[in-house]
Amino acid sequence: MPRVRVNKETCIGCGVCWSLAPDVFEEDPATRKSRIKESYRKSDSESESVGEIPEELKEPAQNAANACPTGSITIE
Ligand code: SF4
Repeated sequence: MPRVRVNKETCIGCGVCWSLAPDVFEEDPATRKSRIKESYRKSDSESESVGEIPEELKEPAQNAANACPTGSITIE
């Protein structure tokens, strides 16, 4: 399964990722930054949120990664 990582130290909470891939990303109400949605989240710390997503969500997640203005999303 593809692994998705959000670098919360560089995320500016612009909302592009959860607009493009709402099944993968959401706004963390506590920090106003992005995090992986609970259903796919594997870990969440102050510095990063990591999850594993099904293959069918890889394309929207990749689109979000490409569109992220701060390069804070990586797909492995
Ligand atoms: S697109 Fe990038 S900067 Fe914007 S909320 Fe998502 S991870 Fe953060």
